[in-house]
Amino acid sequence: MMHMISACLLGINCRYDGGAKEVAECSGLALRYNLVPFCPEQLGGLPTPRPAAEIRGGDGNDVIRARAGVFRITDGADLTSAFVRGAEEAMRMAELVGAEGFFFKGGSPSCGCGRVVGVCAAMAMSRGYEIREFA
Ligand code: SF4
Repeated sequence: MMHMISACLLGINCRYDGGAKEVAECSGLALRYNLVPFCPEQLGGLPTPRPAAEIRGGDGNDVIRARAGVFRITDGADLTSAFVRGAEEAMRMAELVGAEGFFFKGGSPSCGCGRVVGVCAAMAMSRGYEIREFA
C-alpha cells in the first residue's frame, strides 16, 4: 500500500527550524507500506529553515475555503498562498503515485490533523484520504 508521509517524521531535515522530528515508529511503517516522503511547505516554495508560521482565523479547513490565512509569526507576513500551493502539490503527488493515505506530523500548520488541523491535512481529508497523525 502506497502512503504519503511527512518527511520530517523519517528524519529528513525539512522543518522550519532546519531540523527533523524523527519518530521511531514511522521507520517501522516501511515494513507494511510503500512510503513517499514529502514536505508541503517545501513544495509550496518556502525555504528551509524558514520563520515559524501559524493559522489565524480558523484552521486548515477554513484556509482552503479562503476563510482564514497562514501568517509568519514574527512579522505577520501572509504566507497563505504558499501553504495552499504546497498542499495542492502534495495532492498531485499523492494522485501520481496512487497513494491511499497520509501519515502526518502533528502540531504543524500544514500537516497537523489532531489538536491543530493544518492546510495540507485538511485538503487530504476533504479528498477522502485515510489519515493518521504522529506527534
Ligand atoms: S510541513 Fe509537514 S513535512 Fe514539512 S516539516 Fe512541517 S510537519 Fe514536516
